[in-house]
Amino acid sequence: MSRALAIPQLKKRAYTMTAGDLLPVENCTAACVYVAHPKPEAYHVWTGIFVHRFIEYAQREGVKYAEGWLRTKTGTAGLRAQAIVAKLDVESLPRGEAEVELVLDARDGKVNTGTYRDAHHDRHVYMRLDLAYEEDGRTSGLDWKTGDREYDVAREPQFQLGALALWLLNDTPVAVNFHAVVLAQDCEPRWCSHTFVRAELEQIQRRVRMAHGKMRMARLEILKDKRLDQIEYTPGAHCQTCRAKPACPHAWKPEDVVEDIKRAFDPKPRIDWAAAPFRGGFIQTQPLWRYGGPKIGGGR
Ligand code: SF4
Repeated sequence: MSRALAIPQLKKRAYTMTAGDLLPVENCTAACVYVAHPKPEAYHVWTGIFVHRFIEYAQREGVKYAEGWLRTKTGTAGLRAQAIVAKLDVESLPRGEAEVELVLDARDGKVNTGTYRDAHHDRHVYMRLDLAYEEDGRTSGLDWKTGDREYDVAREPQFQLGALALWLLNDTPVAVNFHAVVLAQDCEPRWCSHTFVRAELEQIQRRVRMAHGKMRMARLEILKDKRLDQIEYTPGAHCQTCRAKPACPHAWKPEDVVEDIKRAFDPKPRIDWAAAPFRGGFIQTQPLWRYGGPKIGGGR
């Protein structure tokens, strides 16, 4: 019997902020209060989880154990993960504390270890780091990535918030390293790295505090029970990580960019009927340069 797919619905929810929520919350009021429920699952998420677990088990229990465990994962995600780790030299990867879960208090800047359940939506930001370790005496964080894109570690909220949490947890050292390590099939791990210095981390902390404040204010609107269409939606590239995206009627799609670009470079100008001047009995809808410029005084 086939399993019916649940269609995501837009729901009001006071959720605990995570790194992926930062941009949607900063840019869109609706993103502060809505989530898509239920959340559709994607196999690429599971691929990443299997690869993370493989590295963790290989470092802790040995590669043979980890390979045996991964062979039990046979779906698309499992097979993809097996292909990615097939030639991975686990010994060359850094070791440290894996799957570190941190709860950051957005108001007073305190950080504790704890799960999502330990966090309260009204105060906390929850995050999970794939690895926390010390590198040449400096506090460092790392995130394993599957796929083939480059990461701008200095600018992406996931890494910014990870670095911030480590910085606060370790009594605000001078700097914190953060790495996104891209693991792809038949390739050497590719490192994208950034050293966050104090000024940057203070700026990120201010940003988190403001976004959290905005989210709390927006949630007061829930108590007034505003209708869906009375809440301001601001679509944009930030929709990519919005929890409401699968059900949001205004969610931005990559095709929108193509349309915007087409519109911007459209050689045919929009017809403004009210402003279109009459020229010799017809409405001028083409730019004058198409006809060699304005002909003053009746032309030749
Ligand atoms: S998908 Fe985009 S427009 Fe919709 S709530 Fe999220 S950020 Fe706002």
